[in-house]
Amino acid sequence: MASEVLILGGGVGGTIAANLIAKQAGGKAHVTVLDTTGIHVYQPGFLYLAIGQEQSRSLQRAEAQLLRPDISLVVDRAIRVDAGAKSVSLESGRVMPYDQLLLATGSRTVMEEVTGGAGAHTFYTMLGAERLYQALSAFQHGTIVIGVAGIPYKCPPAPVEFAFLLDDYLRSRGIREQSEIKLLSPLNRAFTIEATSKLVQPILAERGIELTGFFNVESVDPISGTVTSVEGETVGYDLLVLVPPHRGQKVIEDSGLGDERGWVPVDKNTLKHTLHDSIWAIGDATNIPISKSGSVAHYEASVVADGIAAAAMGEPAPAHVYDGKVMCFLETGKGQATTIRFDYDHPPTSPTPARRWHWAKALFNKTYWHTVPQGRVP
Ligand SMILES: Cc1cc2nc3c(=O)[nH]c(=O)nc-3n(C[C@H](O)[C@H](O)[C@H](O)COP(=O)(O)OP(=O)(O)OC[C@H]3O[C@@H](n4cnc5c(N)ncnc54)[C@H](O)[C@@H]3O)c2cc1C
Repeated sequence: MASEVLILGGGVGGTIAANLIAKQAGGKAHVTVLDTTGIHVYQPGFLYLAIGQEQSRSLQRAEAQLLRPDISLVVDRAIRVDAGAKSVSLESGRVMPYDQLLLATGSRTVMEEVTGGAGAHTFYTMLGAERLYQALSAFQHGTIVIGVAGIPYKCPPAPVEFAFLLDDYLRSRGIREQSEIKLLSPLNRAFTIEATSKLVQPILAERGIELTGFFNVESVDPISGTVTSVEGETVGYDLLVLVPPHRGQKVIEDSGLGDERGWVPVDKNTLKHTLHDSIWAIGDATNIPISKSGSVAHYEASVVADGIAAAAMGEPAPAHVYDGKVMCFLETGKGQATTIRFDYDHPPTSPTPARRWHWAKALFNKTYWHTVPQGRVP
């Protein structure tokens, strides 16, 4: 009988893993992807949606179109995992048994954890990015503040990228002179990666983007138009853009499979749950102290695919492990970008920003639908 492989989440990681497992295990595994919406969303596009360079409809596809025909798709919400009984309860009341379970549920943004933050703009959700574009379109002059309300958050360079793209956007509208852009970072530098922060900080200064370090957003007062940090500093704004706090999905928390913020503890190489032998996790869902990014989910997916396919076929665990590989682009505005590459053994490096990296990112964004989910890009 075929082994039941159940994958929670049809985002980047879950979709790549599903396609690779089904391909490798053939008839020896029956793969099911369970996803709340059945719609696959390309989140890196939210940056461009927020400044009117992308359309919402181009950033989503039916998950069914991205999966091999031998994979089953169930559109429902997982509400509880019973690791002892090896089953998952769904919102509809259905209970799905599994032999191997992959948690690829990503992260959730919780703006409600920021006191007074409900009215703040964000480009971290599709709806948020659409609303932000409307607000920016009506913006004529004043101070735009970009803040971060908690670490970890997905795509660490995104607030810096947004600051650069916003600078370009305001210049293209001829209102940059009447505007201020302030970037509030929770760290003593632009974002988590030190080498790349050193590279981009002079460019931020050159573009007139004011960087304030050690500013962990705690609360917002929409009446006075101010945002206050955990460290006790207050900054005024006319338009506020926040990266909301992140945590793991509720199903992880409710099932006792995660830490206090719902991140799944896994071995950083095998991506197996530290306590449960038949449970694996990838992407934003894990507690690995590495960038929460599509790139990480992508590289991790091929590792768990090998591990799960081997388990399904009754073969020994493969030697293939996740080595901490990350490869991300960072837009630096004016049609240029840089890249960030590192792994567990090699510190991050970033080349001087150049037009070719911007075009490489644009090409990746456009070809994504035909390459990444199918696991065609190694
Ligand atoms: C503005 C922005 C820019 C970004 N830019 C980049 C970039 O340039 N490069 C990069 O590498 N990354 C980027 N990212 C990050 C990247 O999008 C995420 O890290 C990546 O999507 C994580 O993949 P994942 O598979 O772990 O989760 P996701 O892709 O988020 O997928 C999770 C899936 O799980 C489903 N799900 C959740 N809960 C349940 C449940 N209870 N039951 C069933 N299904 C459930 C969801 O519906 C979703 O489909 C960016 C993100 C944002 C917001």
